[in-house]
Amino acid sequence: MNAKDLSLRLQKAAEFVPQDARLADIGSDHAYLPVALMLQNKISFGIAGEVVVGPYKSAKKQVAKNGLDKNIDVRLADGLEAVELDDQINAITICGMGGVLIRDILQRGKEKHRLSGNERLILQPNVGERQLRQWLFDESYLIIDEAIIEENNKVYEIIVAEKGTERPEYSGKELLFGPILRKEKNAIFMKKWQHKLEKSEKILASLRQSDQDVAEKIQDVTQEIEWIKEVLDDAGK
Ligand code: SAM
Repeated sequence: MNAKDLSLRLQKAAEFVPQDARLADIGSDHAYLPVALMLQNKISFGIAGEVVVGPYKSAKKQVAKNGLDKNIDVRLADGLEAVELDDQINAITICGMGGVLIRDILQRGKEKHRLSGNERLILQPNVGERQLRQWLFDESYLIIDEAIIEENNKVYEIIVAEKGTERPEYSGKELLFGPILRKEKNAIFMKKWQHKLEKSEKILASLRQSDQDVAEKIQDVTQEIEWIKEVLDDAGK
């Protein structure tokens, strides 16, 4: 694969990076995203942050192979500790991890004063989108865009957020489905939730057979099923 080319998942995330951004890619196994964006002249500076030595070395190799050592700094660090405020980063990508892990990286970054509030966050959680959106809203981030794509039979959501001045009001349904994805309801979204409905109905059936105290869990799954049915039904109207 040409270093300028990215998987569809990373290409979609890359589309939300502003032109000439100073980008930090956290969890940058192989540094594919910053390298491709630098070769496409889309970013002016990049940091590839990695916490594990193996992927960090792969990222360093990839950057060197493309002659980009002066443009992309590969840093061995936990989460946003790869970023200093002096780096003047204005876009952060965190892709290919669970939503809860992404949320925890952002929370620790906030506590350690690594977020200026001027960064666009471009997040691609593999699961746990709801918990990630909850953190964004609690921290007064506005979801400015979302995308949903399918690659190799897997569906991925991309959430793009920028810091606002006050905590936005969002409903439980918007947290679950995504405020923008829920409005768009494209074919991939419908397929994802149809599949999720089938899974949740199976979970509910087995919870009902359980001899443990699962009343609360049954309530949660029942509500989720109701919401999914609503969102799927609405689309037909
Ligand atoms: N971002 C790439 C992508 O989307 O293709 C790589 C995804 S890979 C599945 C996740 C990477 O995140 C791994 O290389 C892992 O070591 C790294 N990672 C996990 N937790 C991290 C943290 N707290 N700080 C930096 N990197 C982390």
